[in-house]
Amino acid sequence: MTKLKANLSFELPSVLGIFVLFHIICDCEMRYPFSEIESKWQNYWTDNKVSETNLDDAAKKLYTLVMFIYPSGSKLHIGHWYNYGPTDSWARYKKLKGFNVFEPIGYDAFGLPAENYAIKTGIHPKDSTMINIADIRAQLMKMGCMYDWNAELMTCAPEYYKWNQWLFLQLYKKGLAYRKNAPVNWCPNDQTVLANEQVLADGTCERCGHAVIQKNLTQWFFKITDYAEQLLAGLDTITWPEKTKSMQRNWIGKSTGTEVIFKVQGSDEVIKVFTTRPDTLFGVTYVVLAPENELVKKLTAADHVEGVNKYKDSVRLLTEIERTSTVKEKTGVPIGANAINPMNGEVVPIWTADYVLNTYGTGCVMAVPGHDERDFEFAKKFNLGIRKVIYQEGTDEKAELTEAFTESGKMINSGEYNGVDSDEGIKKITAYLEKNGQGAGKTNYKLRDWLISRQRYWGTPIPIIHCPKCGEVPVPEKDLPVELPYDVEFKPAGESPLAANKKFINVKCPICNEDAKRDPDTMDTFVDSSWYYFRYPDPKYKDAPFNKERADKWTPVDMYVGGAEHATMHLLYARFIHKFIRDIGLTSSDEPFSHLIHQGTITNQGAKMSKSKGNVVNPDNFTLQYGSDVFRLYLMFMGPYELGGDWSDKGISGTDRFVQRTYELFSRFTGILNGVRDVKLFDLTSLSPEEKAVYKKMNQTIKKFDDEINNFRFNTAIASLMELLNELKVIDKCSKEMQAYILRRYAILLGPVAPHLSEECWQMIGNDKSLFENPIWFEFDSAALIEENVNIAVQVNGKLRNTIEVPNNSTKEAVRELVIKDEKTAKHLEGKEIVKEIFVPNKIFNIVVK
Ligand SMILES: [Zn+2]
Ligand SMILES: [Zn+2]
Repeated sequence: MTKLKANLSFELPSVLGIFVLFHIICDCEMRYPFSEIESKWQNYWTDNKVSETNLDDAAKKLYTLVMFIYPSGSKLHIGHWYNYGPTDSWARYKKLKGFNVFEPIGYDAFGLPAENYAIKTGIHPKDSTMINIADIRAQLMKMGCMYDWNAELMTCAPEYYKWNQWLFLQLYKKGLAYRKNAPVNWCPNDQTVLANEQVLADGTCERCGHAVIQKNLTQWFFKITDYAEQLLAGLDTITWPEKTKSMQRNWIGKSTGTEVIFKVQGSDEVIKVFTTRPDTLFGVTYVVLAPENELVKKLTAADHVEGVNKYKDSVRLLTEIERTSTVKEKTGVPIGANAINPMNGEVVPIWTADYVLNTYGTGCVMAVPGHDERDFEFAKKFNLGIRKVIYQEGTDEKAELTEAFTESGKMINSGEYNGVDSDEGIKKITAYLEKNGQGAGKTNYKLRDWLISRQRYWGTPIPIIHCPKCGEVPVPEKDLPVELPYDVEFKPAGESPLAANKKFINVKCPICNEDAKRDPDTMDTFVDSSWYYFRYPDPKYKDAPFNKERADKWTPVDMYVGGAEHATMHLLYARFIHKFIRDIGLTSSDEPFSHLIHQGTITNQGAKMSKSKGNVVNPDNFTLQYGSDVFRLYLMFMGPYELGGDWSDKGISGTDRFVQRTYELFSRFTGILNGVRDVKLFDLTSLSPEEKAVYKKMNQTIKKFDDEINNFRFNTAIASLMELLNELKVIDKCSKEMQAYILRRYAILLGPVAPHLSEECWQMIGNDKSLFENPIWFEFDSAALIEENVNIAVQVNGKLRNTIEVPNNSTKEAVRELVIKDEKTAKHLEGKEIVKEIFVPNKIFNIVVK
C-alpha cells in the first residue's frame, strides 16, 4: 500500500499531464472501427482456440484466477469488469512473456439472491440463473478476455455439487462435520441462519442489511477450529496483502493464557475461566458467567431464580456484537452463589452478565475491575470491589483507581508475589495452579466452527438421512448426488422449503430400510467456492471432485484476484478446505492461492455506486460507444489498481483519443514489415537525433511498461504508452528499419492492455499470425537506457544556486571547471575562500566557503 501511495504522488502529475495533452492536441479524423475489429479478433481467437490452454504441459504454468461470478439477477457490472479486465491484461502480459497461462471462469450459481428473486417474481431460481449465466457469458465474450471456455463450470449443476456432498461426507467421517444445538445468528428477513463471518460489525446481515438476532437451533458445522493453528502458520508462507493476513490473524484470534479453576462454595461444581493475565488473580472481586452457560441454572440460589430468568429473557435476542459493544451500558444480576479464589481462598460473588459470551473460552470470566476495562465499568455500576494488584510506575500506590490499568507492571497486594513483574508472575502463578490442580497453561482461539446449514432451497442438499432407529445416517457415496428437486414452494417459513417436498424428504434408511427423512437443509454457498479452483483444469471429471493429476500440476493458483470483503469468509474457508483436501491425500500443497491481489473500488464522482442512488455506470453503454479495449484501458488508467478510481464520462473519451491516434499511426504504416530488414539492435552512434530519441524512448518504455504491469500498476504502464505515442510524432523522419522496429514493439506492448487493437495493429504492419497465437516479447536494449547528460545541483554552503547539465559520469575535475566558470555560482564565491568541495557523481557539487 505504501508503495502504491508513493507511486501515486510521483506518477499522477505526469499521467494527468499527458491526459490533458491528448484532449488538446488530438484532432484525428479517422475513426477506429472497434466494433468490427473486436468481433473479428474474438471470432479468430475462438475459431483458432487461441485462448485454450494445453493443460498437460505445466512446465511454465501460470494459473491466474478471478473470484468466480455470482449470477445474481443483474448482469456484469463495473465492479466485475474492474476485477476481470485488468486481471486478464496481466494474464495476457504473462502469456506474451512466454508463460503457459491458464485463465478459467465460472459461476458461483447457488445462493440467496436467485431464491429471493424467485419469491418476488415467481421465476424459478434455476431458470433465472440459467438466463443470467447466458447473458453474462455473452458479456464476457465481448470483453475479450482469454478465458479457456473448455474449463467453464457452474456450481448449481449436479455434477458439480455432487462433490460438495462428497466433501461433506469426508468431513463427516473424520468428525469434522457435525450437528449441534447452539445459539446462532438468524436473519428474520432472509429466514435463515448465517455464519459469524456473514454478520457485519454492526450486527446486520451481510446479504440484506437486516438486524440479525440470536436463535437456538440445531445446525451443521464444519470444524474449522481444528485447523486454527495451521491457518495461522500458513499465512507466513503466502504473498497476500498484509491487511488481509492480519484480518485473518485477528479473526482466528489466538491467545495464550491460563485456565484457572474456581471452586464453588458449598457445591461440587467448579468454574473454569480462561485468562491471559493470571498475574492479576489477587485482584478478582467477582466471577461472571454468560447467561446461557449451563452453570447458571445449576448454581443459581432458589431466591435468585426469578431475577436470573428475567435477566436471561431480556438478553436473549441480543447479538454478540451488541453484547460486547463498548458503548452499551453493562447489565447483569447476581445468582446468589459464591466462588473461591484459588490463590488466597477469598470468597467472591458469582454474577451473570451478557458481556461475557458463552462461545468464547469457557463462557466464564474472573473479573478483575482494577485491571480490565469492562470489569471496571461493571464493578463501578454495581458497587463491586475494585482492587489494585498491578502497580503503575509513577503513580501513588495507595490512591484509588479512576480507570482500569491494563498494562503490565509490578505485582502488589498479591501476598508472596509482591514485587514480581507481570511476565514473571504469569509464569509463577500458572506453575502454582498446575501444581495444585487448580489450573494450567492453555491456548485459546476466537475462531468458531463454520456453520454451514441454511434453511433455504437454492443450494446443495446436505447428504444426511435422519432415521428414527439409526439416527443420523450419511447417504452412501454411490447414491450421490442427492439431487435438488425442481418443484418446491419458495415462500420461507423458517424451515427449508425442501422439508415440504414429500417426494424429496421421505426416504428409506440406507441401514435398516425403514421410513426415514432427508436432512432438509442446504449448504452455505461458501462450501461450493471453497474448492472450485481444483476442478477448473478438468471440470467434467467424473471419478472424483477433481482430476488429481491435473490439479497437482496446476495448483496452487499462482495469482488470485478479487474483493477484499472476502478476507474472513471465502479466503479463510478455502484455506481450511484446501488443508483438509491435503490431509485426505488429494493434493500435496498447503495453500490454495500463492499470490493474492484485491482490486480497489470504482466510484462515480466521488460517490459509491449504488442502484438506489441511480449512479451506477453500466459497462454495456460504454463498450457499445467506445469498444471493449477503450473501456478496459480507461478502467486501468483511472488510478492505482488496488485503490480504485473515480469514473468520469469525459475521462473515457481521453482514453478513446489515445486509441484513435494509435490506430491512425499504424494505418499510415500498413505492411511496413514487408521487405524491411528486421534490425534487432541499433548502434546509437549511427542514429540521427530523431531516431536516437525514439529508439531510446521505445526501450525506456519497454522497461517501464514491463516493470509496472508485472506489479499490477496498470495506470502507470498505460501512461508510459501514452508518453511513447507522443514521442512518435517524429517517426516520419526515421529510417524504415527504425519505423519497423518501433511499430513492432509498440504493437506488442498494446497486447496486454488493448488486446483487439494490438492484434489489428500487429496484422496491419505485416504479420500474418495472431500475436496471442504466437506470443512474443522483446527485451529492451539496455545501452539505450543510459542517459547521456545528467543535471547536477550546484550548491554553495548547501544552498542550491544553479543546476548545470553535464555528460553522464563526468569526473569531479570536469564538473568543477564548469561550476567555477558558471556565472550564477561565481557571484556567491566572490571574495570568499573555498574550504571544501563535496562532489556526488551525477548529482551534486557543493562548495563550502568562508
Ligand atoms: Zn438477511
Ligand atoms: Zn435406520
